[in-house]
Amino acid sequence: MSNTPLSEAGFETLAIREGLVRGFEQEHSDPIYATSSFVFESAEQAAATFSGERDGNTYSRFSNPTVSVFEKRLAALEGGEDCVATSSGMSAILTLCLTVLKTGDHVVCSRNVFGSTVSLFNNMLTKLGINVSFVALRNLNDWRDAVTPETKLFFCETPSNPICEVGDIRQIAEIAHSVGALLAVDNCFCTPALQKPLAFGADVVMHSATKYLDGQGRVLGGALVGSIELMADVRAFVRVCGPSMSPFNAWVFSKGLETLQLRMDAHSVRAMTLANWLVAHEKVAKVNYCGLATHPDHDLAKTQQSAFGGVLSFEVTGGQAEAWAFINATRLMSLTANLGDVKTTICHPASTTHGRLSDDQKREAGITASLIRIAVGLEDVSDIIADCERGFSAI
Ligand SMILES: *Cc1c(COP(=O)(O)O)cnc(C)c1O
Repeated sequence: MSNTPLSEAGFETLAIREGLVRGFEQEHSDPIYATSSFVFESAEQAAATFSGERDGNTYSRFSNPTVSVFEKRLAALEGGEDCVATSSGMSAILTLCLTVLKTGDHVVCSRNVFGSTVSLFNNMLTKLGINVSFVALRNLNDWRDAVTPETKLFFCETPSNPICEVGDIRQIAEIAHSVGALLAVDNCFCTPALQKPLAFGADVVMHSATKYLDGQGRVLGGALVGSIELMADVRAFVRVCGPSMSPFNAWVFSKGLETLQLRMDAHSVRAMTLANWLVAHEKVAKVNYCGLATHPDHDLAKTQQSAFGGVLSFEVTGGQAEAWAFINATRLMSLTANLGDVKTTICHPASTTHGRLSDDQKREAGITASLIRIAVGLEDVSDIIADCERGFSAI
């Protein structure tokens, strides 16, 4: 096995080479260590490895060399000290919560987070006596006012889905730290290629690796990145409770990281082109994309993101009937709630991803009946626009 020295390397070099291991065959591509356990040369060596006196793998629920490659590489890209991989994005959030929270503790979370994140906080953690308050992402007074003496964790997702609101990571971190709480940022939409929350004061970055880190919609996975101390606690939880990442999935994610910057830049360029085209269309009432100079959070986004990502949403003139007619007339885009794929996806948030929200909650979240979300993939943007033309002709 050999590691390349990379202390001075740039982002794209780290994305390709950080953590790289070679097996006995000196293969050029990373090997997959498809094994549940590891053998020892002696009882003494086994004892020393299990006790932690000696570095080494014992069992793949605890650690696996292929998973370690992904963890080292993602930690380097986020600018974090350490990373722990998990079986999915949701298990990453659960792992974080059960590592840092106990019964009686309180969480402040931005309102427009991923649907299952809301359910996890509202329906699962409440069973353990952990309470949550949801606040408006960009209203800093809301964050301050929601704090109780039991608040231990702030959680946010920026930019938000599907209307692309941006939270001020520096300011939210400052409020969290002033009350002794940690700030975790779900960095799924930007990835470290476009935004590094730890550099703005966040304590933990959480990922659904399922999305852009893979980038081709093949496998599920998640990750947490943060300090050595915090990740040691997180690792202890994963070791005992078992939401571990499989070696095959880790291998796919490490391969995905190799092209992350190229893909995120390309997603962003295409989304920007599509957003500008939509703004000029007569059958569009509103476009939500923080890359547009007219978006209320454009200036803030520029201070913490290097580009604006692949997800945008827009309202067609009319209501649900018009939005559904648009979607049903498209032929190229995949009608699915997933995102972060080379294939462009389209969905109607009000009746799918956000269908369980009440009318009031939808109004607060800006999710109207005429809203359509597109997660722009890497097809020719002219073909994506042609598909939207088909949609508009049906209205
Ligand atoms: C998909 C997603 C998650 C959950 O990740 P899974 O890998 O599906 O468990 C969390 N946050 C965001 C922003 C997501 O898009």
